[in-house]
Amino acid sequence: MEKGEILFYLNNPEKFEIVRQLADKIRMEYCGDSVHLRGIIEFSNYCHNNCCYCGLKRDNKNIIRYRMSVEEVINRAVEIASLGIKTVVLQSGDDLNYSCCDICDIVNKIKEKTDMAITLSIGERENSEYKAFKDAGADRYLLRFETSNEHYYKVLHPGQTLKRRLEILDILRKFDYQVGTGFIIGLPEETDNDLCNNIILLEDISPDMIGLGPFVSQSDTPYNNYPNGDITKTLTVLALVRITTKNTHIPATTAIGTIDKDGLFKALNSGANVIMPDFTPMIYKENYNIYDNKVSISIDMAKDVVKNAGRYISSSRGDTLKRGY
Ligand code: SAH
Repeated sequence: MEKGEILFYLNNPEKFEIVRQLADKIRMEYCGDSVHLRGIIEFSNYCHNNCCYCGLKRDNKNIIRYRMSVEEVINRAVEIASLGIKTVVLQSGDDLNYSCCDICDIVNKIKEKTDMAITLSIGERENSEYKAFKDAGADRYLLRFETSNEHYYKVLHPGQTLKRRLEILDILRKFDYQVGTGFIIGLPEETDNDLCNNIILLEDISPDMIGLGPFVSQSDTPYNNYPNGDITKTLTVLALVRITTKNTHIPATTAIGTIDKDGLFKALNSGANVIMPDFTPMIYKENYNIYDNKVSISIDMAKDVVKNAGRYISSSRGDTLKRGY
């Protein structure tokens, strides 16, 4: 798809059904009817970064911070495996309180005790640490570039650069991770041109997995007064990303389920082929409020949505569809 065509669909929400149907067809062709479940554990909400949109930002004094111990994370992962789930996603704020050894220990022990694929989503670390996590057994890494607009990236992420973010994605690929990236749709200053450039950047990066979700406002951030991203715009972007990237894993994200009660179902019908049920222990999950009113996707919810969409749950690990896996 040319840039002009992408922009046309972003500008004309009444044409959504056209891209949705095409995305659904391409999803069927490249991914089939199976949906992969990835169990997510949000193991710490401490963060040394200060992203304008995120409730975990360092300056937010209104949330109760928590950290799960290494043992707690491992035990939770073992519980996920016992339900037949084949991937665990370990996510946190950028929390350097977990040393490189701690993360390696978690990965190592989960690998010893289960046959699950492990995805890390713990933000920015030293290059040598990414290597160590991989050597310990991590399979995949998620790191969204959030926006391709370099200037806006700096505004959103004080002290961070888009250049480093993209460099890390390269390094992860070099270390042989299955790489996931993506962006937020409907950030306050974001234009359709930015969204279009985000989609084009994805084509360049050629990631194995792509996480997309609407901006959802969080009351303790500078962006608390801005409206949430629009559902049709979000689904249009998702569909366009499926059409342009074809053989990628694209989740129906929690943020989509948060802004629309049928969001997960709609996303599955617009190109998505993954759902990430939330396994963060009850006592912690209410404090992982990256945005307001975040829904918790249970395994039963996920199964219902998959069934209602006429699809089935995959029994495989759902590794990358690229590079000869
Ligand atoms: N520290 C990790 C994990 C961050 S949380 C990292 O930097 O990768 C995971 C994702 O939540 C982020 O990449 C961001 O895209 C998304 N997110 C955070 N706040 C959000 C908000 N207010 N609305 C929508 N998405 C948000």
